[in-house]
Amino acid sequence: RADMALYAVKDSGRNGISFFRLDMEERSLERILLENELKKAIQQEQFHIDYQPKLDLATGELIGMEALVRWNHPELGRIPPNKFIPIAEETGLILPLGEWVLRRGCEQNKKWQDQGYLPLKLSVNLSVRQFYQSDLLVKIKEILQQTGLEPQWLELEVTESVFSDMDNAAAILQKIRDLGIHTSIDDFGTGYSSFGYIQRLPIDTLKIDASFIRDIHQNKESHAIVKAILTIAQTLGLNVIAEGVENEEQLAVLSEDGCDQGQGFLFSKPLSGHDFEKYLSGLPAAK
Ligand code: C2E
Ligand code: MG
Ligand code: MG
Ligand code: MG
Repeated sequence: RADMALYAVKDSGRNGISFFRLDMEERSLERILLENELKKAIQQEQFHIDYQPKLDLATGELIGMEALVRWNHPELGRIPPNKFIPIAEETGLILPLGEWVLRRGCEQNKKWQDQGYLPLKLSVNLSVRQFYQSDLLVKIKEILQQTGLEPQWLELEVTESVFSDMDNAAAILQKIRDLGIHTSIDDFGTGYSSFGYIQRLPIDTLKIDASFIRDIHQNKESHAIVKAILTIAQTLGLNVIAEGVENEEQLAVLSEDGCDQGQGFLFSKPLSGHDFEKYLSGLPAAK
């Protein structure tokens, strides 16, 4: 499945669909198809957002959720983000798509707050291209204003790849912080080999990449890396969240190490808005 893609293409005839199996050499064709479909998908709003809970590991309390975009193509079915986000990023389609996710997520979060549910911080992934778009701050301010969501209930997740231009990145992160919005470094530990840079960056949270959590209970090296991240975070006064927590063994190690927060299938898979709301309604209300 990794190197083969089942592909459906519309026939010239009405409603006719042909399926093709494309091998690696034909991957560029798949790419072109996806790119075209992506353009239509944005116009036709074929996307929705799933929300994955983030928990306080000490208390088990729900502290927030991550917005994860989902594409359900009318003929191709579900296409995973790892397949279309890179194409959206390369083509620039991530700008309208990312803006849609941000607006829709803020709108939804505000709605849940207005319904009286426990106020939660919504995390939204920002791609490199979005991060460096010249009107990012204007867009964010506009979205907060239009949706009425207070900035403290929004967090932006960026990956280490935005630090290729460190001075610029620091300036943008500072402007985001000045708006009262939290920021976190996603997939932390997989990008830069040096931790040094985080000292001079205005960020709030390190999100430890799932690859270190996966075998933390079985692999000394992974465990050592996680402990090092926790120590540095503590020294710098940063929050830490572990991503991809799947089992009790991993949780036990993380709790013992003093990791504050976690996200992963052990607690909950990403949920549709409808299911997340059901999850919320099972919690004690805000007031
Ligand atoms: P990410 O931001 O690191 O998101 C976490 C990914 O891990 C999600 O995959 C989530 O479903 C998955 N996950 C959560 N818990 C577990 C677990 O316990 N085990 C395993 N194996 N996986 C877990 P998803 O939704 O497929 O998204 C993949 C990536 O696509 C995201 O990684 C993010 O980089 C990108 N992405 C998703 N939505 C957006 C978006 O709205 N904008 C941008 N720019 N990127 C997005
Ligand atoms: Mg993320
Ligand atoms: Mg991540
Ligand atoms: Mg990732």
